[in-house]
Amino acid sequence: MSKLLIVGTVAFDAIETPFGKTDKILGGAATYIGLSSSHFEIDSAIVSIVGEDFPEAHLNLLTSHGINIDGIEIVTGGKTFFWSGKYHNDLNTRDTLETQLNVLADFNPVVPEAYRDAEFVMLGNLHPMVQLSVLEQVKSPKLVVLDTMNFWMDNAWDDLLNVISKVDVITINDEEARQLTGEHSLVKAARKIYAMGPKYVVIKKGEHGALLFNKEKMFFAPALPLEDVFDPTGAGDTFAGGFTGYLAQSGDITFENMKNAVIYGSGMASFCVEKFGTERMEVLKESEINSRMLEFKSLTQFDIELSANKAL
Ligand code: AMP
Repeated sequence: MSKLLIVGTVAFDAIETPFGKTDKILGGAATYIGLSSSHFEIDSAIVSIVGEDFPEAHLNLLTSHGINIDGIEIVTGGKTFFWSGKYHNDLNTRDTLETQLNVLADFNPVVPEAYRDAEFVMLGNLHPMVQLSVLEQVKSPKLVVLDTMNFWMDNAWDDLLNVISKVDVITINDEEARQLTGEHSLVKAARKIYAMGPKYVVIKKGEHGALLFNKEKMFFAPALPLEDVFDPTGAGDTFAGGFTGYLAQSGDITFENMKNAVIYGSGMASFCVEKFGTERMEVLKESEINSRMLEFKSLTQFDIELSANKAL
């Protein structure tokens, strides 16, 4: 079984969407990545940090999903990372209202000995210096995937470029890709990102799906049109969990297989947005994943008779 090492925030979130508002609930990039990737046959572990205020029940939720948490440091007297955000009516865009780094401000990650030989590494969203430090502790990973966000472009630009130069795949949303490269066209943005280091670029476009780029090759996966979207928080991380979980399970890192990984990422993200926070991901069943993947297949599969076109 492949090992997937995940680094990212384990956090408290306060979320406001047009459908409601939550107080401090469980959140964090690594939480969503971990819950999502736990549905694949892999051995996963999270490296992160929380404060003394973090409920044991949240940690138990992670372990009950088979995720190793030896690498989650608990700081006595410390406060857990806190993020609050408010979504606009389109649910595709949001404003960050507050980011309190708290214990994350002085985090020196230690990768548990048992995961230093991890074949797959998912550098989830947090300070690029922490992402880099984790990467330096892993021996010779087969694939390193990085996710980040505008906050780190605004606050740690040089460190971010440094870690980007060392990864194989970057997953990023469309606005962040534009901010990172200064290009409006996502095709041009992907090309500029190759020059920064990653060979593969995944650009997430919220309800408009995701694009995968590698050299001149391109692939598009739609997002499943859902009747109700309550809260998009964590969708990007859940996508990353499905993407890396699938790749780690199959062990195949070719472009062809990455297409399937993008579909799995989109499929997992489609569950995440159905309820607030991690609620949906906490109770997700394998049978639900299977039927959703079949829905995806029929949504995107078509058989066109090209010779019927007069132009040919
Ligand atoms: P997503 O909706 O996929 O972008 O992820 C949302 C999650 O990212 C929330 O659960 C937050 O706790 C976490 N988050 C928000 N801001 C940051 C940040 N600057 N660094 C790391 N994690 C963050």
